[in-house]
Order: sequence, then structure tokens, then C-alpha cells
Amino acid sequence: MEYEAVIGLEIHVQLKAKSKVFAGTPAGFGEEPNLLIDPTVLALPGALPVLNRESVEKSMKFGLMIDAKMPTISRWSRKNYFYPDSPKNYQITQLAEEAIVGPGEVEIELPGPSRNVMGEHKKIRINHAHLEEDVGKLTHGGNTSLVDYNRAGTTLLEIVTEPDMHSAEEAVALLNAIIMILRAAGLSDCDMEKGQLRCDTNVSVRPAGTQELRTRTEMKNVNSLTGVRNCINFEIKRQAAAYERGETIVQETRGWNAETGHTYSMRSKENAHDYRYFPDPDLMPVKVDDAWLQRLAATLPERPFDRQRRYMADYKLPYTVTSVLIPDLQLCEYFEASLKACGKNPQQTANFLINEILRELAAIGPEATIAQSRIAPEALAGLVEVVEAGTISKQQAKEVFAEMWTSGKPAAAIIEEKGLSQSNDSGALEAIIDTVLADAKNISLVAAIKGGNDRAINALKGQVMKAAKGKANPAQVDAILRAKLA
Ligand code: ADP
Ligand code: MG
Repeated sequence: MEYEAVIGLEIHVQLKAKSKVFAGTPAGFGEEPNLLIDPTVLALPGALPVLNRESVEKSMKFGLMIDAKMPTISRWSRKNYFYPDSPKNYQITQLAEEAIVGPGEVEIELPGPSRNVMGEHKKIRINHAHLEEDVGKLTHGGNTSLVDYNRAGTTLLEIVTEPDMHSAEEAVALLNAIIMILRAAGLSDCDMEKGQLRCDTNVSVRPAGTQELRTRTEMKNVNSLTGVRNCINFEIKRQAAAYERGETIVQETRGWNAETGHTYSMRSKENAHDYRYFPDPDLMPVKVDDAWLQRLAATLPERPFDRQRRYMADYKLPYTVTSVLIPDLQLCEYFEASLKACGKNPQQTANFLINEILRELAAIGPEATIAQSRIAPEALAGLVEVVEAGTISKQQAKEVFAEMWTSGKPAAAIIEEKGLSQSNDSGALEAIIDTVLADAKNISLVAAIKGGNDRAINALKGQVMKAAKGKANPAQVDAILRAKLA
């Protein structure tokens, strides 16, 4: 039988916030264990939580970026469980129906037929996104277990999708789209290696063409895109094979072993009532009004796919070029600042940015960002301008670029210093062209061109450029030669 996969994701994102979500202690990564703590984080008697405005506003910004319905009131709950990664014996979180972000949708792009061709776009519904606190980290070894509460209490946004995805590719595309949005809006760096984005992956399969939702399994805390892709594909095969054998699937939490590429049974899934959710009496509800939403909306960037469509339509940038720019807002801002300074030739500007500047940055190291460019957007505009004006050729522009990168001087100064300027003095150029045309060794070439061999004109151009010591404007040489040969 043919099966169709049904996939829903619960994505946990650490939001960028200076302090923890319910305490004033700094939030951070890579500190010595148990430095980022205070009485509230440790749940010492009498310590009370205080809600962090930055955590709330960053969550709301995510909601605005995905066109979510924003609830006017949002509340806090305690999810009770007993495990030493949480000093409180409960986690402060939110019920779906009281979450800070209501239903919305995320546009995704599926892989195209090749890297140069845009793939199909579709929308995946988001059920809600709720704000909660992260837990500490346990390390087990020998007969000791260690606990580090630095991560405890840091801001987590849990984004829950509807079961709208039907392949590993769609799930990965959704994650990529969400990462782009969170980065563009400055909400999270989404560094999966640092655990800033983890994903619970829910998978079921059903006979193709049917609509029922069948029993699902949940793979907890998968922490790489490859992991998500592989665990979904494994799970689809495993469940389909089980149905083929006439077995049923049990609802359970499964682990993912990246080394063997298998999922394995961990425990039967706990139900909401196991956690005895109840309202947290220490925290006031949050009231959200339109003025607040509008203030936040005004700080948000354009949605990445909207920006991509705009670059393709308004600037005629090829898809491949836009897909390099779009995931990096700083790169887009650099590009737009450069265009603003010169306003000419967006393609040329994007080409210099991608081919020259990104190459130099890659040579610095994989972490280098556009902020480290030694050439400011306005200076790049200066280079585009002189190429557009025909002052230097594209070939010479590469030389000028290299010099700009090392010396930090503007293009015009370098051209002046090196005497690179193409001569636009048509009198001098005409004299050179006349000499070349009159040269006895060119008689047969001239005859060939006049006889219709258009390609032969290149040989003459080469001679003219050489005689002009490379300073002639190729377009001008072409025009004068053709006029004289006509
Ligand atoms: P719970 O409250 O038990 O965690 P939810 O209904 O909130 O369950 O769903 C959790 C996640 O599982 C969501 O991302 C949802 O889209 C997904 N999901 C729900 N039912 C299915 C199913 N039958 N197959 C695949 N994914 C599912
Ligand atoms: Mg859940």
C-alpha cells in the first residue's frame, strides 16, 4: 500500500534576551557552571518570579512576523514534574489557548529542480507559540551526576505547527523558514550546535488519499537539520512496515540515535493531566493592546520571502543571487545601503558583494560577517559608479577592488594613483584607430570585415586597446571602429 506521512513539529527556540525570562540574572552561554543563578532561578524559599519584558516582546515580534492572531490576554501556568534539571519541581509555561502567540502561518520554499531555480512555495499553519523557561543541564558519569543551572530559566519560545507537512523535505523547509524569520527579526541566532533551536518531531503515516490523523510517535530534542530529515525518513519507513505486517503503532516518545540512524522506544507518551497544569499564582497575566503591537511591528524587517520577490521584480536579480542575500539581513542592508548611495546597476552591486566581498570574508574565516567588510557600502557604490561610467573596465575593477580591500582607499583615488582611467578622449582614440586601420598588415582583416566577417573586428579592437595601453573604453573603440568601417 502507498502511505502518506503526516508531520508536525514543536520547535523550541532560545530567544536572545539579556536576562532570564522570570529573573534578573543574565542569560548566557559558555560560562563556568552555576554562575548565572540567583534565588529565583534556584527557587529558594520566598523568591518570586518577575516577567522579562524583552522575552515577551521578542515572542510577540515572532507572532507579528508570521501574521499570527495575537491574543489580547496571555497567562502563565505551572507544568509540574520532578527531575533535578528544574530546581522548582515545575516549569513556568503557557497553555496553548493562553499562549502569547495565537494561530499563524509560515511560508516555506521546497527545494527546486536545481539550485538555480526557485522551488515551490507553500504555507504551513502554526497552531500557536508559547513562552516558557528552559531547564538546567545534567551530566552523568560514574556514580556522580552534576547539574548546571546556567541555562535554567532562559527564554524559550515553543512554536507548535499543525500536522501540515508530508515529507522530511517540507519539515526541513519549515525549519529553514523559521530560522530565517527569527534571525532577520533579531530574535534568536538559532545556532543548533549551541542548542539554541531544538525540535520535537511528530510523525504518523496513513494510507495515501485518506485524511484521518493516525497514531503518532514523537522524537524529542532532535538538534540538527540532518537529524530531523533522517529521523523522519526512518520513522516513515518503520511505521509503514509495521502497518504492512498488520501491527499497530503505539503512541510513544522515541529517541533518535544519529550514529545508527535509528529511532528507538523511550517511554509511552505522557498526557497533559500527568503534569497537573495549573495557573501560576505568582505571575500576572499579560494584557496586549493594539498600540503595543503597532509599536513592535514598526521595528520589524520585511519578511524574507517578500524581500526576495522584491529583489527579483524591482532589481531583476537572479534567483541564485537573491538566495545568497536573503537569509542574511545584514547583507541585505549592506546591499540596499550601497544601492542608495549610487542607485545604479543593482546586478553589478550584488555581483561585487557576492563574488568579491563574500570571497574576502570567507578567507577571514567561516564566522566572518559583512560587518567586517573593509569596504563600506558607499565605497562599493563608488566602484560600481566608475565601472558604469566606463572609466574603468570590469577587468580593471577587480584590480581596483583588491586595492580597495587592502588599502581602504576609495575607487576614484586608486584609479587616479595608478593612472587606470580609460581614455574617453575620442580625438586621441580616433587617431590611434586610423593608424591601426591604415597599417598594411591589416588590409586583409579590413577586407574580411567589410565582406561580412563580423568576428574579425575583435582582432582590430585588440590592436587598438594595446596601442591605447589598455586605457581606451572598449564600447567607445567598438563604436568608432564600426563607424569607420561602415
Ligand atoms: P500534545 O498536546 O500531546 O503535545 P498536540 O496536539 O499539541 O499534542 O500536537 C503536538 C504536535 O504533534 C503538533 O506539532 C502537531 O501538529 C503534531 N501532531 C498531532 N497529531 C499528529 C499526527 N497524527 N501525526 C503527526 N503529527 C501530529
Ligand atoms: Mg506537546
